[in-house]
Amino acid sequence: MRTIGVIGGSGLYEMEGLTNLERVRVETPFGAPSDEYLVGHLGDAKLAFLPRHGRGHRVAPHEINFRANIHGMKQLGVEWIISVSAVGSMREEIRPGDIVIADQFFDRTKGRPSTFFGDGVVGHVAFADPVCGALAEVLYRAAEGACTEAGAHAHRGGTYVVIEGPQFSTRAESRIYRQLGVDVIGMTNLPEAKLAREAEICYATVALSTDYDCWHETEEAVSVSAVVATLQRNVALARAIVRRAAETLPAKRSCECPSAAEFAVMTDPAAIPPVARERLRLLYGKYWEKA
Ligand SMILES: [Zn+2]
Repeated sequence: MRTIGVIGGSGLYEMEGLTNLERVRVETPFGAPSDEYLVGHLGDAKLAFLPRHGRGHRVAPHEINFRANIHGMKQLGVEWIISVSAVGSMREEIRPGDIVIADQFFDRTKGRPSTFFGDGVVGHVAFADPVCGALAEVLYRAAEGACTEAGAHAHRGGTYVVIEGPQFSTRAESRIYRQLGVDVIGMTNLPEAKLAREAEICYATVALSTDYDCWHETEEAVSVSAVVATLQRNVALARAIVRRAAETLPAKRSCECPSAAEFAVMTDPAAIPPVARERLRLLYGKYWEKA
């Protein structure tokens, strides 16, 4: 059975329409995920849903244990992660309520643990194309269909600048990001994309535009209340996109993600400490046992 992970961002804390529901608490070598995973069936797919900030929105962007969240998905057998995220729009034509299937990231976070490597094991994965093209295509088509029904617009591709937060940007920062050519702004997706690639899980982003950040001359500066109002409208759209995507994802992956880390590890296998080998067994044991 196909297993799809969904990471829900601000406003999306539950997934409706699942059958055979159970809440699964997962422990990882990297600590505890943001919450229990909500696991169930959606049509003929298995779906594992995790609210990125926890139920009740308790975990700030800089406090999220991204490694645990992604490792938990791997433990549950997830092959695709659909990341649903509220973002600010950095372009006039991306209106609040629109959807962007972001395909590039620009990092402005500060020292977040964003790799499974380290502590005795050195590894490097390719990251020129940080989202899975096959999954992004499925999500774009799903978004196009759902947006047409909702009167919103779906944008294919875009660069997501990831800021540290938790504050929103200053006007100067917002203007500078625009000059850099970014399309949307958020606080969470890049560490997830990096870890998903290392874990050989397909990852792509459904960015829900909630506001014009603070660069827009005629709009009021971003406020939590305005963001929340648009978010609530967007959540129904996000759920519709996930449902459509779950119906169309193939039974078997044909992209390069499933072997993304095959040649990543630089460390001599004989030099890998047993404790590190154990910590990474779920991710890379298949390669080490073959060697
Ligand atoms: Zn993929």
